[in-house]
Amino acid sequence: MSVVLPIAQRGEEILTFKAASVAQNEFNSAWLEQLALALQATMLERHGVGIAAPQVYVSKRVIIVASRPNPRYPDAPEMPAVTMINPEIIEYSTETCFGEEGCLSVPEQRGQVERAYVVKVRYFTVQGEQIEQSYEGFPARIVQHEIDHLNGILFVERL
Ligand code: ZN
Repeated sequence: MSVVLPIAQRGEEILTFKAASVAQNEFNSAWLEQLALALQATMLERHGVGIAAPQVYVSKRVIIVASRPNPRYPDAPEMPAVTMINPEIIEYSTETCFGEEGCLSVPEQRGQVERAYVVKVRYFTVQGEQIEQSYEGFPARIVQHEIDHLNGILFVERL
């Protein structure tokens, strides 16, 4: 059973910090595993499609990306939730697109945000395995939105 954590709301300082990288000796640890489980439980409880650790008051570079079809993105792929540690976008497509975004930390607002259509992201698993994966469309948007959280940026700053 995992804990559902409270979510920091716009205006709280934690959401403006640049989050710290997960250190080498934190990989494969019980605490990182627990953080990933708690993030996932919190995201599911709030019907989110992604979440970043700073949103639950943990200023560490950990995000979850979990696209699924929804009324705004009926063609979004259903994917198993992917936990990304120290994620970094290593390629952006020049093609961009606008799409509606919301945020668990800004519940009262939605907006059209311009994002790269395709991104290639390099990240580590909880166990410390390095992965490189490309995403396009809605999942690529989630990756960019969540990595913004790690850099202290909310989508409303991109409107
Ligand atoms: Zn958000």
